[in-house]
Amino acid sequence: MKHGSSEEEKGHVVDRLTALGYGSNVSGVEQTVIGAIGVLDRDREGLLEQLGALPYVERVVPVLKRYKLASREFRAEPTVVKVGKAGQGVTIGGDSLVVMAGPCSVESREQLMETAQAVRDAGATMLRGGAYKPRTSPYEFQGYGEEGLEILAEARERFGLPVVTEVMDPHDVEMVCRYADMLQIGARNMQNYTLLREVGRARTPVLLKRGGMYPTIENWLLAAEYILAGGNTDVVLCERGLPPYGDTNLRRNVLDLTAIPIVKELSHLPVIADPSHGTGKSALVSPLARASITVGADGLMIEVHPQPERALSDGAQSLDIPAFERLMRALPALAAVEGRRMAGAGVMA
Ligand code: PEP
Ligand code: MN
Repeated sequence: MKHGSSEEEKGHVVDRLTALGYGSNVSGVEQTVIGAIGVLDRDREGLLEQLGALPYVERVVPVLKRYKLASREFRAEPTVVKVGKAGQGVTIGGDSLVVMAGPCSVESREQLMETAQAVRDAGATMLRGGAYKPRTSPYEFQGYGEEGLEILAEARERFGLPVVTEVMDPHDVEMVCRYADMLQIGARNMQNYTLLREVGRARTPVLLKRGGMYPTIENWLLAAEYILAGGNTDVVLCERGLPPYGDTNLRRNVLDLTAIPIVKELSHLPVIADPSHGTGKSALVSPLARASITVGADGLMIEVHPQPERALSDGAQSLDIPAFERLMRALPALAAVEGRRMAGAGVMA
């Protein structure tokens, strides 16, 4: 729909689709997008012409993929997602390269502040840290919940880094939005459709990790579609590895580097890589981080802990602070080769 089209005009389009026997999906915040659902191939041309002739319709786009709003057909230019408050926000996508760094879990105020300061000083753009942890065993550390979120918000104020943190329960979305600048949907929840719909209603950007029961690229983009269809257009994808074919002692997951250029061709959404969960081994994090930049990732998520051997979760894949600093020193040259610049925290208008 054209900018400024009225509710009545939107209603006309929906009514016309209904009369023709199609479903419809109305979405978008600043600009309304009406999806026509169930259009048969033989009717496509006629419908394009009919709807395109309406004065309040901006354009009619045929999308043949199952995911629509997430597709390149729907939007050709890359989406740039703004995260954080004006003045201390960052942009993800376009030519900038973001680095989200921090511990797997918020373990204490001291641990988070020490890590936040170190990653900021090393040039990270955002702070990560889990307050709700999806653990395989109910006896493992589950995270500090809202208390952890408070610590994250304090670190954001102190160090000026926007915060990304996981939300697991649809009932917590509103509360987590009060503390976080970006909501992480963890790999285990990629196909948790209730949760996807709930974050689709939020107006906080979402980091959608690849995973779920069937972690195909198509299902990943369909998961993004749930969020976009709810009107939340700020979705960033995150490749975080798939279960390996064996050798689980050598690597916990296999980072799917091929997925990055594939997804960039299929979708306009930014995509970052998480070589920490993507490998499960700290020695593999830096090589795979570099490779991710080379294949076109818009950024990285890296787990960092001041004392990885004492971490309450994911110590084996966490970089200590010197190792993170070494990685950060190597990135600007790699970024430059790819025609990108390192995003700084607080540089966005
Ligand atoms: C995490 O980021 O700590 C996490 C649990 O990630 P994933 O959902 O990718 O396993
Ligand atoms: Mn982790």
